[in-house]
Amino acid sequence: MLEIKASETVKEGSIFGQITTMDHEQLVICHDQATGLKALIGIHNTTLGPALGGTRMWPYATESEAITDVLRLSRGMTFKNALAGLNLGGGKAVIIGDPRLKNEAFLRRFGRFVQSLGGRYVTAEDVNMKTSDMEYIAMETRHVTGLPEIKGGAGDPSPVTAYGVYVGMKAAAKKAFGSDSLAGKRIGVQGVGQVGKYLIHHLIKEGAEVLITDIFEDKVKQVALETGAVSIEPSMIYDLEMDIYAPCALGATINDETIDRLKCAVISGGANNQLQDESKHGQMLLDKGIIYAPDFLINAGGVINVGAEYLGGYNRDIVMQQTEKIYDTCLITLEKSETEKIPAQQAAIATAKERIEAIGKVKLPF
Ligand code: NAD
Repeated sequence: MLEIKASETVKEGSIFGQITTMDHEQLVICHDQATGLKALIGIHNTTLGPALGGTRMWPYATESEAITDVLRLSRGMTFKNALAGLNLGGGKAVIIGDPRLKNEAFLRRFGRFVQSLGGRYVTAEDVNMKTSDMEYIAMETRHVTGLPEIKGGAGDPSPVTAYGVYVGMKAAAKKAFGSDSLAGKRIGVQGVGQVGKYLIHHLIKEGAEVLITDIFEDKVKQVALETGAVSIEPSMIYDLEMDIYAPCALGATINDETIDRLKCAVISGGANNQLQDESKHGQMLLDKGIIYAPDFLINAGGVINVGAEYLGGYNRDIVMQQTEKIYDTCLITLEKSETEKIPAQQAAIATAKERIEAIGKVKLPF
């Protein structure tokens, strides 16, 4: 009889091909005819604990786009949670569709799928999902966090995320300029949403010269008025003479085209998946001498906050202290990147993997 090895059935680009390459534990496909729910839950690694990561709702053009997104995002959560010192694994969910489709039944049906995983995956908010959506999900599952404060939750995680990005930026400045002071530094912030807005407040308070941009003109004008930052056209951000570029909008803004144009010493922002191609563009930044503060390292404040809510006994002061440690972790990572001559993203992933491996061994004996 012809023998087929498991590895031979895994084709490049196929679902098993992707989860083998990225080393996922599980990909869950959720469907409900009645509500029209189509969701994917990616569980990357649960060595450290339940896989925590938010749910994103997006009108993906194709199924494969949604699969790639959930796999990349859940893998990123494994490294983010590990590096932040959390006892949580990495997971993420995506719901395919127009966010306006959400309603009580739709979200509760999704909550039941989360519940069916028995705590292997814990959800929270991400793009197009709000704390109020978590309330409906919480009607069907205990494994949800990021609830509104009036419901006993920790509320919007964005201010904590922004604080982590701010201290991470200071560490990157120390590496690049020899001092972590941002006073007088010219910083371009791309995206004045939840994270960007709080970050701008910290930067202005420290005396930085802040240039801000957003695709929504009224939004950027409002933040400029509130903070004293200067608004610029969205297309100008990549050609600006600046000390620090802070991507706080969507991912993949660091790519073949923009790296050539960027004239900054540091890149340090809150957006997820900033490098379009993790290895290629990480190396290009290293070659160009740009200090890059890995996104998943410095934007971990939000997950530190929702993680604390999920694990119980939430204390804001402890959460802020834990978030402040991002400064040291970032500096150590940038030192490692320099000493080992490897991109900072790669250095951060290596440290996260070391922790997962070491703690995994601790758990072996009963
Ligand atoms: P948000 O939707 O509130 O803000 C994003 C802003 O970027 C919006 O104002 C949007 O108009 C703007 N934008 C989109 N495309 C743009 C472009 N091309 N140029 C300029 N502006 C553009 O989202 P957020 O919660 O502030 O999150 C921002 C980023 O940080 C996202 O990548 C998110 O995944 C990541 N992040 C957020 C948190 C959190 O706690 N909110 C935690 C970790 C990571």
